[in-house]
Amino acid sequence: MKKKILIFTPIIILGIVGIYILTSFNYTKELTIKIGEAIPTLNDFTKKAKGSISWSNNVDNYINGTYTGTFLYNNKKYSVKLNVVDDKAPTITDEVTVNQYDKVEIPVTDNSHDNLDISTDIDLDTFKVGTFIVNVTAIDANNNKATKEVKVKVISEAEKNGKNIEVVETTNKGYLVQKIDNLYYVNGLLIANKTYALPNSYNPGGLLELFNSNFNDLKNAAKKEGVNLSVISGYRSYATQQGTYNNWVSYYGKTKADTLSARPGHSEHQTGLAADINSLSQSFINTKEGKWLNDNCYRYGFIIRYVKDKDDQTGYMYEPWHIRYVGKDLAKKLYNNGDWLTVEEYFGITSKY
Ligand SMILES: [Zn+2]
Repeated sequence: MKKKILIFTPIIILGIVGIYILTSFNYTKELTIKIGEAIPTLNDFTKKAKGSISWSNNVDNYINGTYTGTFLYNNKKYSVKLNVVDDKAPTITDEVTVNQYDKVEIPVTDNSHDNLDISTDIDLDTFKVGTFIVNVTAIDANNNKATKEVKVKVISEAEKNGKNIEVVETTNKGYLVQKIDNLYYVNGLLIANKTYALPNSYNPGGLLELFNSNFNDLKNAAKKEGVNLSVISGYRSYATQQGTYNNWVSYYGKTKADTLSARPGHSEHQTGLAADINSLSQSFINTKEGKWLNDNCYRYGFIIRYVKDKDDQTGYMYEPWHIRYVGKDLAKKLYNNGDWLTVEEYFGITSKY
């Protein structure tokens, strides 16, 4: 008797299961895809039904989440679920080249359409020419995280234009001194001082447009405040400077002349980016005009080039009248909230014959 039960019970169970399989409708109720994979069709859920799934909201296979839908089979409604999952971290580029003063954009791509959260461990400052390393973290909407050490190459205008560049030195402040077409640049800024000379062939022919247009803005702003400023000496050629310097030498001797006038090639006036304003007297700083120039020129990209009591750095005595165009970024840094820094101390260069 016991044996019969043992034999018949499984047969009965199998029979019931068999009938259930034959009569019931089976289909896949839930599918999971990865972001970017094709959206399943009704055929992927069941081969039996014809037609399509009507999703309760539009399925975007690039946005993770759970979607629900329904389809009809034998006039009965069945529901299905689709999970879109993202398990892939964003991809961060290894290296990026950027023009000096431009904004750095680190290329990061991700398989998801969703917003990326990109952060860096240091400020992406492109003031300095050269290469720096930054650690970049990118997190996508599904918390997939990627980190990478990215090399950022900051190149100067000359480098971008494919000019022949010779690196002369790295200063003690970490700035590059480059020689481009026989001209010396520190961090992209053209330098003419006692250490770095311009060749006699360098002749911009006058004050450069960059100087003129910005000086015009400065002049107009000053005028609105009742301050009249004008250039009394702008561009000077190598030959002119030679004549001027020789005159000083014959008058005072070489030692004294070197503190008052530049040797040919060493004058900033040859750059076409420097000029003397209004007066050649140190008491100019006590005038309304001198004060205005000192306090506001940086807003227009100019600096007081030969700062008071810093003769040992610049190689020249204080000249409150001599301005040099360096661009607004650098001018603001050198203005230093009124406590002028010299180009020499800021970049770590010398000015000595
Ligand atoms: Zn001057």
